[in-house]
Amino acid sequence: MLDDKFVSGGKEGVLPRYVLQILTLIEEAGYEAYVVGGAVRDIALGLTPHDFDVASSAYPDEMIEVLSAAGIKHVDMASRHGTVTAVTSEGNVEITAFRVDGEYSDLRRPDEVSFTRSIEEDVRRRDFTVNAMYLGRGGNICDITGGLADLERGIIRSVGEPEVRFTEDALRILRGLRFAAKYGFEIDEKTFEAMEKLSPNLRAVSGERIAEELKGLICAPGASDIIRKAYRILGVIVPELITCHGFEQHSRYHDRDVFEHTLAVLDGIPFKEDNSGGCIPCRDAELAAAAILHDLGKPESFVMNDDGIGHMKGHPEVSMRIAVRVLGELKCSKEFTENVTGLVQLHDTFFKPDRYIVHRFMSEHPLSFLRKLAVLQRADILAHSEYGQNRLERLDALEAIAAALVREGAAFSIKDLAVKGSDLIEEGVPEGPEVGKVLSEVFDAYMRGEVANDAGSMLSYIREHILTVS
Ligand code: ATP
Ligand code: MG
Repeated sequence: MLDDKFVSGGKEGVLPRYVLQILTLIEEAGYEAYVVGGAVRDIALGLTPHDFDVASSAYPDEMIEVLSAAGIKHVDMASRHGTVTAVTSEGNVEITAFRVDGEYSDLRRPDEVSFTRSIEEDVRRRDFTVNAMYLGRGGNICDITGGLADLERGIIRSVGEPEVRFTEDALRILRGLRFAAKYGFEIDEKTFEAMEKLSPNLRAVSGERIAEELKGLICAPGASDIIRKAYRILGVIVPELITCHGFEQHSRYHDRDVFEHTLAVLDGIPFKEDNSGGCIPCRDAELAAAAILHDLGKPESFVMNDDGIGHMKGHPEVSMRIAVRVLGELKCSKEFTENVTGLVQLHDTFFKPDRYIVHRFMSEHPLSFLRKLAVLQRADILAHSEYGQNRLERLDALEAIAAALVREGAAFSIKDLAVKGSDLIEEGVPEGPEVGKVLSEVFDAYMRGEVANDAGSMLSYIREHILTVS
């Protein structure tokens, strides 16, 4: 029984000491205070919460008074919305006053919020039943909407009328999909129908907020099942997903349509290893995004030969163009966008497994990027038909060369060479662009295996092969 998890409440350390301290302080001042939202959900599932939100009957100015009197540092930048953050050496706690949200005239944010002493009213503004449970410091739990039962059965269900709730805030649609994907839950039928019906309202939600939820969704263990179920909803944000759905490839390299192939690639992206116990496994967001985007350009690039064979030449470039647009609309960071679009562009590029070619390629991209590219390429190959598996051998050979170069401590940049610009100037090379030119020539010779990376060999090579020629 999930209830058992709460019984011992604070006493046996379900809640950390600093959180208990905050709850106690507020209660002793005569107000109610509970841990709420994700932390309660995760504790009930036996997982480790990543942060603790507290809901309280105290109004923001009252909270500030309680915290100040106890000498606890706090930040009150969001107090207008009801939130004060208590800052302790063990961690921060966001304390939010019980709240009633006003009208949502822009489908995004309430026009105004007002505070209330009533937990029942605070419950009603929460998005899903599994997020609307309150845990007191003694292990007492307030679960008005049946969140525990839904958690036990694995169901995401709106608090109140789903259509009303998604009309108020369309982002909740994506939050619901994210929670379902994270925990492998089903979505209540009526809730899902409302999600589909109101999905066009997602166009009114800011790119940043959408991006955050989408990243959470695609990195989650149950992502492919939820994306398959909700592709029409996600198509409001990325219309190409709908074009790819059911798009047959007419190629012996493939036994799935573009959409199903895409999901198989996503499934093939491994979970991060640094996942400490008690957390739900999670993929790298750049890799997950690249998996989703890598073949979106296929329908546009598709050509059918007379013999009925499909070709999608140039699709990585088209997919990259789509990726640039999508990630731009979602206001993703420059670094994220560059890495993801780079992965999409190169996902189908397999060089000859030649040491020089690999070394040169490695000098053009950071190692962290190349590691991700290899992961994406492996997942992509494995999502091809049996006939398409022959590329694995080539990828293995390329990876073996790359691994050997790393093991040998090879130089991947001019900066890592044993000779510097100042050495060349001493040799009589005129200061200016000429120095850079000679360095790149010797770097290329080094990658070709013509000279070792030590100062003596490099200077002799430069004297014999570069300076004498020019
Ligand atoms: P996690 O932090 O693991 O993503 P969470 O449930 O804690 O999950 P938060 O975004 O931290 O999610 O929000 C805390 C709580 O605030 C939620 O559990 C929910 O009760 C409420 N909440 C957050 N966003 C919304 C929203 N858009 N509409 C209604 N309630 C929301
Ligand atoms: Mg949270």
